[in-house]
Amino acid sequence: MIFYGTKGSHLFSERKNGIKCDNCNEITAHNISVYGKYAYIYWIPFFPMSKKAFSECTNCSATLDVNGMNGKLKSAATEVKNNTKTPIWYWSGLAIIAVLISLGVYSSLQHDKDVAVYINQPAVGDVIEFKSSENGYYSTLKISAVTSDSIFVIQNDYETDKKTGVSDIDKASNYTTEPYSLGKNQIQGLFDEKVFYDINR
Ligand SMILES: [Zn+2]
Repeated sequence: MIFYGTKGSHLFSERKNGIKCDNCNEITAHNISVYGKYAYIYWIPFFPMSKKAFSECTNCSATLDVNGMNGKLKSAATEVKNNTKTPIWYWSGLAIIAVLISLGVYSSLQHDKDVAVYINQPAVGDVIEFKSSENGYYSTLKISAVTSDSIFVIQNDYETDKKTGVSDIDKASNYTTEPYSLGKNQIQGLFDEKVFYDINR
């Protein structure tokens, strides 16, 4: 279950002098306080929702929200509210998500660059992920030797119907058959045909 809701916090207070109080009829100072509301998920503030100003008469302690204020009090409260900045931590959750997305995009771009290098410079131990053209299942090949123009690969004994399952079958004990060779210049072609789709080193 996701635990979410809204919460308020005090942001700012300012004293405004010379304003008539409709409750005690004194022209006196009022404390204007601004509260912010934000949405949270679990304990993380996600994004700001609204800001509200309240006034408190320093003479009679009458507390009002904007709807109960007279014109002068309301314009003072609005001014204080508009000068109150929404704290940046109200955005924490969205900021965290933005950072995670950028990291994900970055590491995926980085991996694509790495794969381009692995295709041109295959190394012993590289694991090539491929999709079988016969049954559409996924499996892996492990490079066991590299010569000047060829690679030798051992095929995984297992295959899986889900791409995400490939990491589960990539175990040293699953490579038991005799290696066979492929021309180095065939690797790019197999990627272009979408038979090979990833290499991990
Ligand atoms: Zn008052």
